[in-house]
Amino acid sequence: MKTLYAAVLIGSISAIAIGNAKAQTAPAEDPALKIYRETTPKYNDLVHTKLDVRFDYKKRYMYGKEWVTLKPHFYPTDSLRLDAQGMDIKNVSIVKAGKNTPLKFTYDSLTIDIKLDRTYRNGENYTVYIDYTAKPNELKAQGSAAITDAKGLYFINPDGTEKDKPTQIWTQGETQSSSAWFPTIDKPNQKTTDEISMTVPKKYVTLSNGRLASQKVNADGTRTDTWKMELPHSPYLFMMAVGDFKITKETWKGKEVSYYLEPKYAPYAKDIFGFTPEVIDFYSKTLGVDYPWNKYSQIVVRDYVSGAMENTSATLHGEYVQATKRELIDAYYNQGRSTIVHELFHQWFGDYVTAESWSNLTVNESFADFSETLWAEHKYGKDAGDAHINDDRQNYLSQPDLKTKDLVRFHYKDKEDVFDAVTYQKGGSILYMLRNYLGNAAFYKGLNIYLKTNAFKNGEAHQLRLAMEEASGRDLNWFFNQWYFGAGHPVLNITYKWDEASKKQTVYLNQTQDGNGFILPLAIDVYAGGKMDRKKFWMRNKVDSLVFHSAVKPSLVNVDGDKMLLVKKTDSKTIDEFVFQYFNAPLYLDRFEAITAAAKQQGNAGARKVIIAALNDKYYELQIKAIRAAEMTNDDVRNAAQPILIKLAQTDPNTLVRAAAITVLGKLKASGNANLFKDGLKSQSYAVQGASLSALGLLDPNAALPLAKTYEKDSEGALTQAILNIYATSGSDEQYDYVYKAFTEGQPQTQFNIMKKFADFTGRIKSTEQAQKGIKAIADFGTKYKKYGVAPQVVQILTGLKADRAKLNDTASVAAIDKATAELQKAE
Ligand SMILES: [Zn+2]
Repeated sequence: MKTLYAAVLIGSISAIAIGNAKAQTAPAEDPALKIYRETTPKYNDLVHTKLDVRFDYKKRYMYGKEWVTLKPHFYPTDSLRLDAQGMDIKNVSIVKAGKNTPLKFTYDSLTIDIKLDRTYRNGENYTVYIDYTAKPNELKAQGSAAITDAKGLYFINPDGTEKDKPTQIWTQGETQSSSAWFPTIDKPNQKTTDEISMTVPKKYVTLSNGRLASQKVNADGTRTDTWKMELPHSPYLFMMAVGDFKITKETWKGKEVSYYLEPKYAPYAKDIFGFTPEVIDFYSKTLGVDYPWNKYSQIVVRDYVSGAMENTSATLHGEYVQATKRELIDAYYNQGRSTIVHELFHQWFGDYVTAESWSNLTVNESFADFSETLWAEHKYGKDAGDAHINDDRQNYLSQPDLKTKDLVRFHYKDKEDVFDAVTYQKGGSILYMLRNYLGNAAFYKGLNIYLKTNAFKNGEAHQLRLAMEEASGRDLNWFFNQWYFGAGHPVLNITYKWDEASKKQTVYLNQTQDGNGFILPLAIDVYAGGKMDRKKFWMRNKVDSLVFHSAVKPSLVNVDGDKMLLVKKTDSKTIDEFVFQYFNAPLYLDRFEAITAAAKQQGNAGARKVIIAALNDKYYELQIKAIRAAEMTNDDVRNAAQPILIKLAQTDPNTLVRAAAITVLGKLKASGNANLFKDGLKSQSYAVQGASLSALGLLDPNAALPLAKTYEKDSEGALTQAILNIYATSGSDEQYDYVYKAFTEGQPQTQFNIMKKFADFTGRIKSTEQAQKGIKAIADFGTKYKKYGVAPQVVQILTGLKADRAKLNDTASVAAIDKATAELQKAE
């Protein structure tokens, strides 16, 4: 799964940090954290699950018949317990020779306890028939806050009363919500083949795991589609979707690769998903295990409750992956694309071999996270991969309360808590280190062994360790103990001393975190006399130092020369050393660090050289970093940068670089650049258009409003934001509708980005009625994404808005804000 928090609101790090700071003050001695979360014992094993379902859109019910085949796991048993959340259970029978004989059972709305007709022994299969009604929308009545968010089965716009929203049904199983739509042993350490017959209005398309075995049109205007999954997978990976989707099909090695989209986005199916076969091929070759399932479908649904979900052979995405061809011009390796590869990698790590418990979620999610970097470096080059993994590290490091959480998590309050930046981003970074330590070939061989040994079964971190040890021939307990079964990360202080008399260079390494030191294999690159010499060094103590001889004073000593460590680092390099690093050390992070250091010292000639050179860095994100860092108020910087920025604005092949250059040039308000901005408005890229419109607005504020109006109709993304900024600054009530619509219909990330401007505009419009509508929209956003930590920022924005409305004596709006603020500040 890619959580919404990980997938979408990634830009709101500060919001996340605020949210966590609040969590930190909670009592540390939570009794729930003392519970050892063991792997669920297996009494019975699922073997095959056959479902026959039909939907009651009006009641939001699903009528189900199930034939579930099981066998005792090892010990003989005469009873069976199935998870079944909030259902009506009408009949439970044992099936023998086609005949149903009713069984005794009790049901407490969460589990069915069934007394079997006799004792069954290991190896003896039996089939139980259950007639039931699933009532996902009534689960809330049980009063569990967690369950309201885990309905399992979702009816979207079932009455068709919401304008512009299609009617859909879809499911979400992870973590344990499949049992809200069929009775099962809803645990990740169970695996079963399945067969699902869905009877639906015949105008709709269906999707489920495996192959579409048959379609039968019924006399009553319905159609029954039967899907068969002939390889075993876990119940949380079951899926169904029903609705008006247009299917685009491709193939990989003869297997269907298909994309289910709302008709409006179907023309862009290949623009959005078309690289999927290439990724399947790359992952299959890298892992030495061909894509294991019979087909791979991806579907995009409305109102999805998370980012995306890797249901076996049928991944389900939230709306945010949808985009038009023009929007995708500016996408590069954005969240949508990295999510697509993330879910695909889960088809091996998660679906083919499944975490045996939520405590071991790392063997699913850390791999999926790592796979994003894998694809980035394969498709877009090493810099892109390094940039992606560095973002991962920074994401984890920016959340200080995570440093107490083990990667393999035997203690947690709620299983959902394990879906955090430790399991995803830290875990991905650890795999990245492990690959570097073992070497690519040994690492991939280890993955191959892990997959083949545990195929269609479960895995935990130890199985991964054993596979890596088998492949490499090296003991890895030290690595797994500190990174998988321990918490935190090294906080590393690096200082240097050169002694001219003895020609000795000393490097002092000091881990300052609480607790034990980390064992760190390090590469230390020494650049001296025009040559680079790599020294391998094992840091085994919290305080260590390395002394070596050098004929001349090194120009640079680069600790962690291959930039592998997951570490919080303070490196006392001089600016001269950073300048040298930018021009001589090869990696993304070498240059990133140098630009960061140079940006702070642009009075220094060497630092300016770095900034100016980095405007043309070979990797676009570093170009953008330098463009944004350039101090255009510094005459030396501006004189050198301006001609380069003009060239970038006109001709750089990367639209985001062009847009960044235009934005900086725009702030100079130089009329000589007007034509350049006008040219930018003609671009196909919304990013370039948006930057150009903003720049022209700064140049001539009076012309900005009428100009913005002409772009209203064909606008998305950055262009919409630019229009919105102009309206928010100089628009009147007349423009409010457009801004309101852009906010309320925007994707979560867009909403988050434009919320402040939207609030500013809402603060000064005349209509109190419109103002209240806007307040409600902001409050709704805060409520919807409260669990992702956005509430403090929403409250802050509402507080500012309150002051604005108070100045206009709009007491009704002030009251509405007070109410919304109180609601958002209420504890969960
Ligand atoms: Zn995932």
